[in-house]
Amino acid sequence: TQELHIIGGGMAGSEAAWQAANAGVQVVLHEMRPKVGTFAHQTGLLGEMVCSNSFRSDDSEQNAVGLLHWEMRAANGLIMQTADKHRLPAGGALAVDRDPFAQSVTDALMSHSNVRVEYGEITELPTDGHWIIATGPLTSGALAEAIAAETGAEALAFFDAIAPIVYFDSINMDRAWMQSRYDKGETEEERTAYLNCPMTKDEYEAFIDALLAADKTVFREGETAGYFDGCLPIEVMAERGRETLRFGPMKPVGLTNPHEPDKKPYAVVQLRRDNKLGTLYNMVGFQTKMKYGAQTDVFKMIPGLEDASFARLGGIHRNSFINSPTLLDDQMRLRSRPNIRFAGQITGVEGYVESAAMGLLAGRMATAEIIGTPMSAPPNTTATGALITHITGGADAKTFQPMNVNFGLFPPVEGLKGGRRGRKDRYKAYTDRAKVDWQTWLDRDTVPA
Ligand code: FAD
Repeated sequence: TQELHIIGGGMAGSEAAWQAANAGVQVVLHEMRPKVGTFAHQTGLLGEMVCSNSFRSDDSEQNAVGLLHWEMRAANGLIMQTADKHRLPAGGALAVDRDPFAQSVTDALMSHSNVRVEYGEITELPTDGHWIIATGPLTSGALAEAIAAETGAEALAFFDAIAPIVYFDSINMDRAWMQSRYDKGETEEERTAYLNCPMTKDEYEAFIDALLAADKTVFREGETAGYFDGCLPIEVMAERGRETLRFGPMKPVGLTNPHEPDKKPYAVVQLRRDNKLGTLYNMVGFQTKMKYGAQTDVFKMIPGLEDASFARLGGIHRNSFINSPTLLDDQMRLRSRPNIRFAGQITGVEGYVESAAMGLLAGRMATAEIIGTPMSAPPNTTATGALITHITGGADAKTFQPMNVNFGLFPPVEGLKGGRRGRKDRYKAYTDRAKVDWQTWLDRDTVPA
């Protein structure tokens, strides 16, 4: 039999190992902890949660991450079944008792007859055999260098600098308008690539005051090294001078507001289309370390975004991730070395749950390949499928930044009311469709466990 080697025993690597081992594949799981640590991990356990203990919403009818929970449970996922076992009361969220959780994940894999855990850091890219790299946001330096040497340095990021992403249908188009600066762009798609929100002088001054006063997170020690060159947080720009943003990402040039063509805006916030579907827009240059609550308060001061809902808020973190849209095929394989798959946060998804889901998929895909029954990716109407479609094809490679699962990644269900009012019915329709499609995919395509 052929072995599957997995590097990294975090959320993704543990799930991938479980899926493959249950399907009869011999798995070798390589984990560097406790021999080599990271700045965030505290233990030598597999499946350690490094920060919050929440798997976020468990609502599988109205919430995309809750739907991802549902899909992983249906696929006999180790991370979900262990989280359920160590669930803490937390209302609609799935909070987890982290130490017993990681201990249980570790026990389940250590005692599995098809899994062997080898402790030690892997520092080179493997040349043959079946491999999955699931080394996460804190991939060790030596392995990161080996990956960069293979992919090109610009295709491996060490930080994410995430600008908030807004649902298009929550933007007030009576205030905002679509136009690219100096009307650049030939096609309709290029001309609708940007959306603009105008500000008067008073609105701008109030916005700067709010930015300066907002609650911010501080970097941890060791987190910032070599950073801050091209991607300053907006609040840091504002600290450097009240006009800095107006001459930077908020410059009002090359734009005419069709709602008030005679009035020149004092400043403009630009949003750029973030996915092919046109359901998501990101706020250009608005990476920030403001706390989440502060972000929603401050950003809702922007004319046009009064009622904005956010698919994800901004952040800046230490995070190694590859440019999946250019580097990976739809089987999560590195195009230049198809014996290597990537899974987890290093593929450009964000969060425990999303990372585990990408591990589940990579584990099943590797298994199918080893057993010789090729398997298609799940359809993008499912949460897992929407994520993999986004990172391997739907996202813009040039501006690729890590993504949480959200309904903006799903193809619309026809014939439903848009806008805020129709949201509840729409989300229910998305999740109903996803559950049927996920079950069909599981029944049809995967190797029996
Ligand atoms: P990990 O879970 O990090 O697992 C990767 C594993 O690979 C680790 O065990 C590591 O030791 C091992 N490894 C690395 N390099 C090597 C090597 N060369 N050889 C062998 N093993 C190696 N997500 C949330 O959902 N909520 C949060 O609150 C949250 N907070 C975070 C805070 C910080 C500081 C960081 C860094 C991340 C945070 N995340 C959070 C993201 C979360 O950590 C990831 O989404 C999730 O853990 C990713 O799973 P993964 O399996 O891809 O990586």
